Amino acid sequence: MKKLLFVPAVIFAFTAVAQKAEPTREELAKMKPEMTEFWDPEVAVVTPGQTPMDAPSDAIVLFDGTKESFDANWTNAKGEPSGWNVADKCLTVVKGAGIIRSKMEMMDFQLHIEWRTPAEVIGESQGRGNSGVFLQGRYELQVLDNYQNRTYRNGQAGSIYKQYAPLVNVCKKPGEWQVYDVIYTAPRFKEDGTVFSPARVTVLQNGVLVQNNISLFGHTEYIGIPKYEAHGAAGLELQDHGNPVSYRNIWVRKL
Ligand code: MG
Repeated sequence: MKKLLFVPAVIFAFTAVAQKAEPTREELAKMKPEMTEFWDPEVAVVTPGQTPMDAPSDAIVLFDGTKESFDANWTNAKGEPSGWNVADKCLTVVKGAGIIRSKMEMMDFQLHIEWRTPAEVIGESQGRGNSGVFLQGRYELQVLDNYQNRTYRNGQAGSIYKQYAPLVNVCKKPGEWQVYDVIYTAPRFKEDGTVFSPARVTVLQNGVLVQNNISLFGHTEYIGIPKYEAHGAAGLELQDHGNPVSYRNIWVRKL
């Protein structure tokens, strides 16, 4: 009961302070520490994973290394079982099998995904270990082997393809596992289909910030200028670019 009575007091205190640009000395002198302490509702408890790589208790695991997990959570573009290969606790692109899409559709989320480009280096520029994580199936976070492999800066690993170059190149050697941790805010649209607020993305690659709360210009275009088309919740997609890139330990937290 004490807490319930306390709420109006806090609102009153904030209102009194907010109405004037600068509270008077007398008003500040009357304030007590408890007047700016909020207790309810209590913050939800989440049990963290053993390491920051491991899924916390409220995460939805989209791939845990098993075929069962893959079949339960992913399809090809037609909504049918995908031809990608599951072996050695990881998932690997099979050339020609096409994209895979998560069955779960999402708006805002935190994503953890680990990826590996082939140890055997074949090709150069965009042809070396190319894949991609398509946020809501539209906005590509590039996956590419850019360890001592130049390409256009807004198309390398950690870029939002053809929109934002990564802040730094923090690629590991080919054949080594790498990590993306992504914070994604979906775009919102007005009733007439125009943009109310653009998609926003923050990305850490191997623990290093590579995209800092950027605003996207629209869905990824290979040729042309990105633009938005109104959409709601959508699945995550992983790209088949013809190179045998692997993925493992994929989990999300809906925000
Ligand atoms: Mg790609």
